[in-house]
Amino acid sequence: MSSNRVLVVSFDGMDYKLIQKLGVKSLTDMEKFESYNNSTGMTTIITNELWASFITGKTWREHGIISKNRPESELLFKVEKLNRFWWWRKFQGIRHKIYGWIPFLSSGNRKYTRQDLKSRTMFEQVHSSKAIDVRSYNVGYNYDLMTPLEFDLSLAVEELDRLTNWKKQELFDSMGKDHDLVMAHFHKPDHIHHWFWEVGKMDKVEETYHEMDEMAAEIKEKAEKEGFDTVLFVSDHGLPDVENGGHNENAFYSCNKELFGDKTPHITDFHDKILELTGSETSDIDV
Ligand SMILES: [Zn+2]
Repeated sequence: MSSNRVLVVSFDGMDYKLIQKLGVKSLTDMEKFESYNNSTGMTTIITNELWASFITGKTWREHGIISKNRPESELLFKVEKLNRFWWWRKFQGIRHKIYGWIPFLSSGNRKYTRQDLKSRTMFEQVHSSKAIDVRSYNVGYNYDLMTPLEFDLSLAVEELDRLTNWKKQELFDSMGKDHDLVMAHFHKPDHIHHWFWEVGKMDKVEETYHEMDEMAAEIKEKAEKEGFDTVLFVSDHGLPDVENGGHNENAFYSCNKELFGDKTPHITDFHDKILELTGSETSDIDV
């Protein structure tokens, strides 16, 4: 099997239909641009679970990542797995208040990392890999954007831009090194969409889509220069508009080559495909 250098850039929450509507050319003008199946056997479409499925090739029952963040308490983590049921999610606010009242119970949340995963990721299986702030795997920066958000939306946007620029720099530096697999995660489209929905300013979402378009163009140019054979852009879910609710099935992927033929892939199919492309062996051994 021939070895092939693979670059994966994930744009959180970028919507398949909105990408086309807003003319995000760098993402649509690829050999392949289509929507894929992002259902994971759960009723919610939550970022951490989706990226865990992408990097492990497994569903939540196997990789163990569920919901948004991980409760610090082991007991609450087990109880909150009921989040997969709508009737449980309905009372989330009240529940969290009650948890806070229970003495000796650590009711805080933390971000998921690789220690929480029960399945191997592609990063351990590819000879030389680099993951940059990949959800459910590593935390590129330990910064809580929600706190500035409570005070001032523009302050949160400023911080988000600072973190996005740092990540972009990390990505460009890593692309210049001799890795077989580089994956970087950009959360900005998802954050902006959620934040600006509330104040009803879709023009900020549009501006961010065009910003990602420009970044994708720069990434493609650099990837060609650095000799990446496969360039894959991907999102975990879509976000249409405030009236039609939250995360949806409009996830997209675009690639400079055909990956799955006529078959529409499932989110768990990318893992094996990336191992195949990089000439790494697939393995079902759990960690
Ligand atoms: Zn997401």
